[in-house]
Amino acid sequence: MATAEVVVVGGGLVGVTAALLLAKGGIPVTVLDPVTPLPARDSPYDLRTFALTPASQRIFDRVQVWSALEAERIAHFSAMEVWDASQPQRLHFAASPAAADTLGYVVEQANLFVAMNAQLQRSPLITGIAGQVSSVTPTPAACVLGLADGREVRASVVLGCDGGASPLRDLCGIAYSERDYRQTAIVANVITELPHGAVARQRFLDTGPLAFLPLPPAALSAVVWTATDDHATWARDCTEAEFCADLTRAFDARLGAVLSSSRRVVFPLWRRHAARYCQDRVALLGDAAHVIHPLAGQGLNLGLLDAAALAEILIAADRSAREHPQSLLRRYARWRRGENLAMLTVTEQLNRLFGTRQPVISKLRGVGLALTERLPVIKHLLAAYAMGERGEVPASARRRLE
Ligand SMILES: Cc1cc2nc3c(=O)[nH]c(=O)nc-3n(C[C@H](O)[C@H](O)[C@H](O)COP(=O)(O)OP(=O)(O)OC[C@H]3O[C@@H](n4cnc5c(N)ncnc54)[C@H](O)[C@@H]3O)c2cc1C
Repeated sequence: MATAEVVVVGGGLVGVTAALLLAKGGIPVTVLDPVTPLPARDSPYDLRTFALTPASQRIFDRVQVWSALEAERIAHFSAMEVWDASQPQRLHFAASPAAADTLGYVVEQANLFVAMNAQLQRSPLITGIAGQVSSVTPTPAACVLGLADGREVRASVVLGCDGGASPLRDLCGIAYSERDYRQTAIVANVITELPHGAVARQRFLDTGPLAFLPLPPAALSAVVWTATDDHATWARDCTEAEFCADLTRAFDARLGAVLSSSRRVVFPLWRRHAARYCQDRVALLGDAAHVIHPLAGQGLNLGLLDAAALAEILIAADRSAREHPQSLLRRYARWRRGENLAMLTVTEQLNRLFGTRQPVISKLRGVGLALTERLPVIKHLLAAYAMGERGEVPASARRRLE
């Protein structure tokens, strides 16, 4: 039986970040994942891209992942524009030069994986096991993970980073709340007639939000379009010309005509939230703990904050405390569950508020947007949330004072 101080179950972006942070703090970690090959990169740009907050950038910087990324493939955005299809008002957020010069970044999944993999290989404190967890047995002295091929791994602490369907969460019997949004996200990269100008834009349609995120070439945007399930199926299967015309209309030709598009991929959307973030020696992080609507682009960002918070707690504790980690894991759960619940709730309410066709609510939405646009204090507060800088922020994600 293999023995490890900490086992990270799931080598996705959250699991690997947690492993790198712990190793940086001197804690040996074993990462367990069934699939090891790096995802193939779409040409010329990946279809899976993430809007990352400055807080996430600092976490990646802390573990030398940011500096290992292909910098010329990262887009920075310094402004955001949000508007409602049924109202003329627009909400603008701009990075204030005094506070920060960027509101966020758009990074491809493959770019992140390659950089993270390189860091994993370099860390002498991280070992990898290719395997799939199929049983969990808590004992007084350790947690024993059974793998599908019959091997066993014994650990003092187990981090469940195995995604939204989290087998580990189910094996532990941790319940979760779930809501099917009956919406599907259509993801594509498109070239527009006009340059995006490093602005992230989102238009709220009554079927769901439509986001254009800037990619490094001036006229290339990553599109995340939340639509009805039927519309998404149509958009995936229609011709490129049909899709471009439909998208141009839906985005009100904000960047002129959509001239061309990559293939489209679709993701059914649901919300999930674990009833508990820890049990015995197991803690849940990332999508294993919470699956959030992509309209605010926060899922991965929240997962990275989970990883940073838990790593901070474990690193600050001494080895004997980590051998009996229950109170440390409870501290993590208290810290992160409240923060994530707040973001899940706000995101869900926004999706509902903008998704209604009721005329009174639609009017109120317009008034709300117009008021927010004129209230700099509220706008700064919203921007700070979107940048991952409100609430109790882990030290590795905090802005460093010059
Ligand atoms: C359309 C869309 C757009 C999005 N855009 C953004 C965005 O702009 N910004 C943002 O922050 N977030 C965004 N998200 C959310 C983001 O994709 C997720 O929050 C994030 O990828 C979750 O990462 P994770 O590491 O927790 O889980 P995953 O990426 O799902 O990784 C889970 C890992 O666990 C492994 N695993 C599974 N089962 C087992 C097992 N039994 N044993 C061992 N290992 C196992 C898997 O192989 C995998 O490697 C978006 C989501 C969608 C759907």
